[in-house]
Amino acid sequence: MKPLTEQEIRTSFVNCTRGQAKRLFVPRDLADRPWADLDFLGWHDPQAPGRAFLVAELDGRPRGLALRRANPAAGRAAPGMCAMCLTTHSGGVALMVAPKAGRAGQQGNSVGTYVCDDLACSLYVRGLRQVGAGGRLPESLTVPEKIDRTVANLAAFVARVVS
Ligand SMILES: [Zn+2]
Repeated sequence: MKPLTEQEIRTSFVNCTRGQAKRLFVPRDLADRPWADLDFLGWHDPQAPGRAFLVAELDGRPRGLALRRANPAAGRAAPGMCAMCLTTHSGGVALMVAPKAGRAGQQGNSVGTYVCDDLACSLYVRGLRQVGAGGRLPESLTVPEKIDRTVANLAAFVARVVS
């Protein structure tokens, strides 16, 4: 994806208020992120465990989601499969919940998905980051096909948030 500025990121969020988008934590090292190998930028808020964010470029414009771990008390990611990139982890998948956009979100409605806890789906798909024992299931798909599938899954999730 093309590199984004902090301003572009802050204005991309679909499921939080303008005030929240202005205050939320955005990584300081944007210039050092491996943009060319990212389908979306994902990060955790170091000040607020369980809060995470991701921004993807969909249909040519950045769309950001505010997320939180469904069960922050548990504190640990669980074994399972990421619903975005379909990487299987022995202990690195979290159930992330996104408030729905607009009025539905204000009324407390949200949608959830299992996702790589480090939000590094793009790197797993490209083989740039490895999972531990019991990792990826062998697949016959090429890397571009896996990337397409990850982006499609992400777009579907964003669509559920804004629907
Ligand atoms: Zn993933």
